[in-house]
This record gives sequence, structure tokens and C-alpha cells, in this order.
Amino acid sequence: MKRPNRILVVEDEEAIRTGLADVLVYHGYEVDEAATGPEGLKKALSGKFDLILLDIMLPGMDGYAICNAIRDNDRRQPVIMLTAKTSDEEIINGLKHGADDYVGKPFSVQQLLLRIEAVLRRSLSGQERQRTLNLGSLSVDTENLSGTREAETLTFTRREIDILTYLAAHSTRPVPREELLLKVWGYARNLDIETRTVDIHIAKLRRKIEPDPKEPVRLLTVRGAGYRLVTGD
Ligand code: CA
Repeated sequence: MKRPNRILVVEDEEAIRTGLADVLVYHGYEVDEAATGPEGLKKALSGKFDLILLDIMLPGMDGYAICNAIRDNDRRQPVIMLTAKTSDEEIINGLKHGADDYVGKPFSVQQLLLRIEAVLRRSLSGQERQRTLNLGSLSVDTENLSGTREAETLTFTRREIDILTYLAAHSTRPVPREELLLKVWGYARNLDIETRTVDIHIAKLRRKIEPDPKEPVRLLTVRGAGYRLVTGD
């Protein structure tokens, strides 16, 4: 039998932390907890967890700094940020620091479980994908989350690699943002804030892979239809 997935909950508010732990254990996860930034960081870097739920405001060290340290250590470690409110600024900041997803507080248990399942599903299915993606002068190593473009070395988040891989596999047509949310993020629903999440990731990708991000030649916007990746030379 497959071992249960292990989740680390980093949250200083005891009621939320223990509530989360109870719910997760009830749903079959193995759970460990951390109540401060430094304790969360230490446990997060142990590499023992399939997923880390990370609060932002924490005593000693905030969630953004912890997420940075996690990414420096292991760019594949799945992280979901717990944001106090779903303000664009917090969400954008969390994604910038390499979080895979975010859940706004107060959150519904069902919503949280769906996001956890989606992030875990992607991180597992990612182990079977094509290793190298060649896009003209750009070569992307989907396993090591790195790439090269004309002697320049690039690093990617797993989410960015998932987007590129999906667009490359469907490069004959534009891919709507809703489809990316469904196939890459694993969301069946579509909220405004979530389609903006797609746009934020596309903008980040363009800064990495486009010679001029303002005039994309590879990752195109097809007005009213979505995004299309040009895979030829
Ligand atoms: Ca907090």
C-alpha cells in the first residue's frame, strides 16, 4: 500500500493550526506542525514532506522568507501559502516567492482539500513527463527545472514548467486560460482571481524566455482565445 502523504502545517495561530491538522489527519494525511518561522523553516528543509502549508505572518521569520529558503534548497517541493486575505498583493508576492498555490483565510475545508489534492497530483504526475523541451534556441530540462537560451542559464518553478509542457503539447492552437487552470492547476472552477493567476505566470515566463517580453515571439497572446506557444525555430 502507498504510504500516506505527509503535510507540514506552519501556522502560529494555535486554533487554526490544530484545526488544520485534525482535518488533514481525518482525511488520511500524516501531519506535522510548526508554530514559529524558524521551527517551520527547519522542518520544511528536512525534505520529509510531500506538501507544506505555509502561513505568511509568523513570529521570527515570515512565510515569504521561508518559501525563498525552501526554493533555494529544492525547487520541486510543493508549497501552498495561507494568505490572511486574498489581496492581489499577497497572492502575487506568494507566487513570486515560488509558492505553487495559495488559499485565502478564512478558507473552506473542502476548498483547501481540493487544492492540496491538485498540487500533490501535479507533483506526482510530473515525474513521468518528457525530460527535454526544445523550443528553437531555448532548451528546457523539465526534470531539473532549468533551461538555456543562447548561453544564458534560466531557472523555472515547477508550475512554469507545467505550463510550458502543456502549451507545447497543444501548440497547434491557442489554449484558453480556463483550460490551463483545469489542466495545469487542477481547478474545475474558474474565478476571476484565478485567471489573473495564469496571466501572472505567463508574464513571469515571458521575462525568462522572450528576447523582448513586451513583444512576445514565442509565448503569444491570441486575443479572445488564450495563449499559444510557438514551438518551431
Ligand atoms: Ca499568522
